[in-house]
Amino acid sequence: MFWDKVKETMPREELEALQSARLREVALRAARSPFYKNRFAEAGVEPGDVRGLEDLRRLPFTTKQDLRDWFPYGLVAADMKDVVRLHASSGTTGKSTAVFYSRADIDNWADMVARCMAMTGADSSDVFQNMTGYGMFTGGLGMHFGAERLGMLTIPMGAGNTKWQMANMKMYGTTVIHITPSYALHLCEEFAAEGIDPKRDLKLRIALVGAEPYSEGTRRKLEDFLGASVFNSYGLSEMNGPGVAFECVEKNGMHLWEDHYILEIVDPKTLEPVAEGERGEIVMTTLTREAMPIIRYRVRDLTSVLPGACPCGRTHRRIDRITGRSDDMLIIKGVNVFPSQIEDALMSMSEVGGGWQIELTRVEGADHIAVNVEVADSFFRGDIKELNRLRKSIQGAIKNETLVTPEVKLVEPNTLPRSVGKAVRVIDKRQI
Ligand SMILES: [Zn+2]
Repeated sequence: MFWDKVKETMPREELEALQSARLREVALRAARSPFYKNRFAEAGVEPGDVRGLEDLRRLPFTTKQDLRDWFPYGLVAADMKDVVRLHASSGTTGKSTAVFYSRADIDNWADMVARCMAMTGADSSDVFQNMTGYGMFTGGLGMHFGAERLGMLTIPMGAGNTKWQMANMKMYGTTVIHITPSYALHLCEEFAAEGIDPKRDLKLRIALVGAEPYSEGTRRKLEDFLGASVFNSYGLSEMNGPGVAFECVEKNGMHLWEDHYILEIVDPKTLEPVAEGERGEIVMTTLTREAMPIIRYRVRDLTSVLPGACPCGRTHRRIDRITGRSDDMLIIKGVNVFPSQIEDALMSMSEVGGGWQIELTRVEGADHIAVNVEVADSFFRGDIKELNRLRKSIQGAIKNETLVTPEVKLVEPNTLPRSVGKAVRVIDKRQI
């Protein structure tokens, strides 16, 4: 189902011509901000000389550190009287970053989210329960405005309050939810503990799952338990929030809205573009944002562009699921390991529950990796010591996936710390 068929199926040449025209405008607009005025001058770029996409690579990159260094207003390119909202990171690590929106920015954002939701088959007859945090986090308001734009009955629950979430799903006949994967796994455990079988007791049909990366195994686990179709979503606050890219019903990658963003995939070391289909770091340029345009932003998420056309008819290119971040890759005993690989290994095993955590230490000068794994409730018989065979097979599965042999510690169901926001999956104690 299309929300805006003309734009979603625009022929590639037209789409690229539109990108070129918008890039010319955005370069000029960005130069009104103190940061880009400065950055363009340093790079020797005259924004008026940008003719179109062919000049994209002459423009300098922008990094998260730039957003921190010029916090709070350094990247604002509009009159403050035209700026109507901000979202900001919690700033628990280092300085905070903030993103600003004009009325048109909020409008475009709602439109993109509505496109994404329609693409999964949701429509105005659905009841939508938004289970991600409202407030400064973009997952709440971003999805909320898009759901209302699409015309769904929208329940602004936010994260947490699991018992109330479950009650609302029953009372109002919720058919669509938006949730993080770690909270979704937790919700499944709570349903099981309360004797609720979602397939029997709920009307849920679509789960929009995003805000943190998750594996195909996690998707299958959620779909089996919830009896709903799980869609992968992608977004980040620097690029508005959720709704940047989403899966269509083909579930073969996420269409990224190229009338609003320019997508590049670059090699994290050389910053040169990689060949189509090759994995690299996402770089994005906002094309329509008024309050805070961002040019060639190094997102640090790793993915690839999937080749070929999508049977759904949309022409916007598809990115593969995010497999990690160039800055969260772990180097263990000299081997590159992504937490997503360990998740893949764990979630393929039905005996494993929803909680897991990696702990890195240094023992006698050598890296040591321990993986704490919760046993699934349905499998646990009361004595963790009897599960030596399971422990061994988890160890083997992780070694197959990563080439590193971890120490595996099994723990009882629901005993690892739970989060309603982003899960902390890695504790690296090696620097201490
Ligand atoms: Zn498609």
